[in-house]
Amino acid sequence: MMQSTGILNTVTTFVSENILYLLLAVLVLNMFQRRYQQHARKKRFATLYVAILIMVLMVGTVLIVYLELPDILFLPLLAALVLVGYRFRKQVFPFRLTCRLCGEKLTGRRILFYDSNICEKCEQSR
Ligand SMILES: [Zn+2]
Repeated sequence: MMQSTGILNTVTTFVSENILYLLLAVLVLNMFQRRYQQHARKKRFATLYVAILIMVLMVGTVLIVYLELPDILFLPLLAALVLVGYRFRKQVFPFRLTCRLCGEKLTGRRILFYDSNICEKCEQSR
């Protein structure tokens, strides 16, 4: 029992100290998506939703650490966010790694900046 709460404490501390970088990375990605206005509308909203979920996780873990609340609270917090993310997965995670039409691997640019989830070849032959 001691050991598992120790691990949880390490996780909570690590998350509270590093989650800001994750949030910044998502926000930077969101800024880049702005350049692809018409192609990346859905995906831009998706990174915004992801940023909001990360922000809630950040505030929660920081509160747990600084108010010295029981670390076990991290688990229901994470579970709640995963559930919300799963419930709204179409909005939160519209990304696909392969082309919707031919199954070919998509390039990073296509994955992040094009809502269509279609490779260049299929796009051209449309
Ligand atoms: Zn294709």
